Amino acid sequence: MIQVKNLYKVYKVGNSKVYALNGVDFTIYKGEFCAIVGPSGSGKSTLLNMLAGLEKPSKGEIVIGGSHIEKLSENQLVSFRRKHVGFIFQSYNLLQTMNAVENVALPLSFRGVTKKARNEKAKEYIKLVGLEKQMKHMANEMSGGQQQRVGIARALAVDPKIIFADEPTGNLDSKTTREILNLMQKIVREQNQTLVMVTHDNYIAKFADRQFHIVDGKIFKIEEQHHEEQHHEEQQHEDTKEDMG
Ligand code: ATP
Ligand code: MG
Repeated sequence: MIQVKNLYKVYKVGNSKVYALNGVDFTIYKGEFCAIVGPSGSGKSTLLNMLAGLEKPSKGEIVIGGSHIEKLSENQLVSFRRKHVGFIFQSYNLLQTMNAVENVALPLSFRGVTKKARNEKAKEYIKLVGLEKQMKHMANEMSGGQQQRVGIARALAVDPKIIFADEPTGNLDSKTTREILNLMQKIVREQNQTLVMVTHDNYIAKFADRQFHIVDGKIFKIEEQHHEEQHHEEQQHEDTKEDMG
């Protein structure tokens, strides 16, 4: 369970202050798929980075599995992330000097998985995200969408209890987006993982069980999604796209 209470993040820019998060409260339950939806600059990445312990809040509490994340030291945060968290970054963050399989295998080495086992696991997840042919490609020898899929495989391969994903399909076409979201949905359901995904796209947000709508650093609406309607809405999305040419 992830509990957020009265969360603030204030950045100083020159002489003025930016309230990136302006009093956020919510609870996310184990096994839930939640989307944080809002326009550019609304505070989505700031919120996600704070939940994952990548940044410190200015005020407020983040309690994950009973631990106060905001009170952990830098070393404790590193171990918290390695043990429990998979993070899919908006900007992929792949290591340029490693190929696709090596990038996915790297976090497994921090968890003491043997070389043979991590190579096998990495290959399995690279196949899952549809990159069988790109296994040996270095980061700069792949398209943006392919790098994003390596990032997704890397986050999922460690079987984390919680996955934080920042615009995980931001660079993918609509067909691949659907495939990847269905895949992420399936994997986290099967393994009872919690998935928190940031997106600016209302269509993508509908893949989640619950949507937290954020504007100006405040959550103004929480919406539940009934997934039996999913198919119909996907069809509509495609139609709309075709209409727009
Ligand atoms: P996008 O969809 O464009 O990624 P976002 O919702 O993720 O947007 P954030 O990156 O969380 O937005 O930024 C929220 C606000 O905080 C913005 O006004 C941004 O300019 C500001 N901000 C973010 N990081 C910093 C920083 N390091 N220093 C100063 N201001 C920042
Ligand atoms: Mg962002």
